[in-house]
Order: sequence, then structure tokens, then C-alpha cells
Amino acid sequence: MTRILHRSIAASLPHAVAGQGVYIQDAAGRSYIDGSGGAAVSCLGHGNVEVLDAMRAQMDRIAYAHTSFFTTDAAEDLAGKLVDLAPEGLDYVYLVSGGSEAVEAALKMARQYLVEIGQPQRRHIIARRQSYHGNTIGALATGGNAWRRAQFQPILPETHHVSPCYAYRDQRPDESADDNAQRLADELDAKIRELGADEVIAFVAEPVVGATMGAVPAVPGYFRRIREVCDRHGVLLILDEVMCGMGRTGSLFACAAEGVRPDLVTIAKGLGGGYQPIGAVMLSDAIYQAFAQGSGLFQHGHTYICHPVAAAAAGKVVEILARPGMMEQVVAMGDRLQAGLEAALGQSPFVGDIRGRGLFRGIELVVDRDSKTPFDPKMRLHARIKREAMDRGLMCYPMGGTIDGVRGDHVLLAPPYIIQPEEIDQIVERLAGAITAAT
Ligand code: PLP
Repeated sequence: MTRILHRSIAASLPHAVAGQGVYIQDAAGRSYIDGSGGAAVSCLGHGNVEVLDAMRAQMDRIAYAHTSFFTTDAAEDLAGKLVDLAPEGLDYVYLVSGGSEAVEAALKMARQYLVEIGQPQRRHIIARRQSYHGNTIGALATGGNAWRRAQFQPILPETHHVSPCYAYRDQRPDESADDNAQRLADELDAKIRELGADEVIAFVAEPVVGATMGAVPAVPGYFRRIREVCDRHGVLLILDEVMCGMGRTGSLFACAAEGVRPDLVTIAKGLGGGYQPIGAVMLSDAIYQAFAQGSGLFQHGHTYICHPVAAAAAGKVVEILARPGMMEQVVAMGDRLQAGLEAALGQSPFVGDIRGRGLFRGIELVVDRDSKTPFDPKMRLHARIKREAMDRGLMCYPMGGTIDGVRGDHVLLAPPYIIQPEEIDQIVERLAGAITAAT
């Protein structure tokens, strides 16, 4: 009998006993291809010897040193690497233990920055509907997933939400991508004015939306227009790359493809590649200098910030991700995955959209392609697909999102970057079988 409060109490989970490359084995000897990197985490696959060696070497030196007493080479090296590789303007790093923690820290950093520069009246956070930014109270309040928020709503701090950039459902037939981007930027502008142009702290968004929508990139130009709106009102732009960052979309930072300069970026998941729990906030020099020349501290801090073993693991992961050919591999395998999915599922009456960037792909499931009507939530289609996929030896990440107040279903794929062409084909074949069996 388990003594763990699992995510789903009803589920009977196989015990994972080994992992190698893109496969995980369970205690019954079954093998699963990791088509989702867990939840877009395992970017280098399982059993990477270089990362394990880096962790061991750090543990031999020192496993833990509290940050009120010491810094460590592992943490300093990781921060230096991230700044070197990040788009211009992300000059400092705050190291935490995961994605929700990174989002919480970014929100508090944004607020403290504005207090330090003499704008304490700024108090509103704006994000987008159908977004996910983590499960802690502040991050959950920021996210716009109605289902995840519902029972906690009364205890969540007040936040505000505007429309997501979701071309498949929301780009009007008579609207170009450009017009769509402009309409959404105008909506943000209007929301900021409604709240009080000098009372908004930040706008928070995922460059490519993961958990709630299934690998949805913004239309070209959207983020540039959003940046202009933020600049007009002195609002900070926080980009949440917890899921889509660290090479997942084919560039080390997803925002690099958007050509914007965010004030704060959160990363996690692929940063540790699953070898250690780690996340980070990257911040602009302006924010750092406001703290340095103001109060002299960031009023925050958890026991495990800058954990040396986590930092050593992430330092090696980042070094591997930055090697020549790695991002090209993500793009090439991502293209193969997209083409394979289109060939196998493009004609299915229940597949509305196949989208994404790099090795971050989503499939939206609908009852009817013309009306784009989602499946009845009572069917729990996402859960059925997950079960059918596991039965076929495939890990994928199906989720029920919220579409106009109705729960809809999509499947997210995010395999390790080391995946080979024949393994991509295996994912496509098994997923097509699972979707056909479940619908
Ligand atoms: N932000 C985004 C965009 C995410 O996708 C997630 C997790 O899925 C989080 C934040 C929260 O990260 P974590 O689960 O590591 O706390």
C-alpha cells in the first residue's frame, strides 16, 4: 500500500526502475519511449554520464553550503554560462529549485524593483487566460487556467487576464497575423489603462504556451507589439520559459525567436534536465542595479537557492545544450515529428490542429474539425489517451485545457533532444494508435 499522496489517487502507477537514453523501464520489465520528456523536462534523456559525473564530482567536493554564508563555484559557473548564452539584456541570475519558485521570485523581484525606484503604487499583475505559471499561490494566481484556479480562487491574490494569442481558435477569418497581434496588443493596452497606467507591475506570458494549450506559439510580431505596450506604460515584461526554454523550441531561449528584450525570464525543467530540481530567474541589469544601489538585497530566499549539486548538474546540461549541432538537431527532429504527425493524424476527424516549434509539439483534439468543438469533458479523453499510450509503451502528455470555459483536450510531445529519427517515427506510430483507440 502506498503512503504517498500521489497526484491522482485513483491511478495505479508502474514503478520506474531504470532509464537510458529516450527510454524508461518499469519494475515489470516494460519499456516506455519518453515522448514527453516527463513534462518537458528530460531534454538530454536518461542516464547521461557527463551530467552524472558532474554531480558526483560536486558531491565529493561539497553537497550543500547555505547562501547566507557562502557562494560556490558550481553556482557561479552556471550563472556565468547562462548570462553568456542568453539574449542581450539578461545580465544576472537568481537560482531556485523549480518553475513555480522561479515565477514567484520573478513576481516579487518585479514588485521590489518598482518599490526601489519609487513606484510603490504599482500593484497589478496581468497575465493571459489559458496560461499556466505554476502551482504555488502567487504563480497559480498569475496563471489563467480556470480549472486549476477554481477551488483556490478565494485565497488567490487578485490578478488580471487578457486573451491568449491562440491563432487556431481566435484569429478571425478576415484578420492577418499582423492584425491579430495588434488587436491583442490593443487589448493589453486597454487593460493597463483600465487598471491605471501607473499601477501595473508586470505582464507575464509564456513565449510558447505549454501545459494549458499544447505548444502554441504566438503569431509573428505579437511579442514585439506587447513589448511596445509595456514600454509605453513602464510595465515590466516577464517571459515564463519554464517549459519552452532551454532549447525546447530550437533556440536556447524561446524569446530569442521573438526578437524582444524581456525584463525577467524564468527557466526550469530543461535547465536541470531532470537530473536535479532547479530553476532560475534571469534579470536585467536595471533591476539588479536598483537592488544594488537601493536596499542592497532581494527580499526573498529559500533554503535551497543556488544548491551546488543542482547547479553542477545544470552547468553540465547547459554546456551540452550549447554544443554545436544541438539546436540544429532539435529543429531537424522537430520538423520530422511535425511531418510524421501530419501524415499519420492530419486527416483524422478528431485532430483539429498540429502545431509547435522545435521538439515542442501539440495536437488539439476536437469532436468536429469545422466547428472546433471540444470533446465532452466527462469523457476525460486526455486520461484515456494517456492510458492507451502507456499500454503501447509511449509516454506523452495529454491534458484537458479550458477553451472558452469548456475543457478541451490536447496532447503535448516534448521528447529528449538526443532522439533519433526512428524513435520519432515510433512515437508517431504509437500516438496515432493511442488516439485512434481513445476517440
Ligand atoms: N511555468 C510554466 C510555463 C510551466 O509549464 C510550469 C510547469 O509546468 C511551471 C511554471 C511550474 O513549474 P514547476 O512545476 O517546476 O513548479
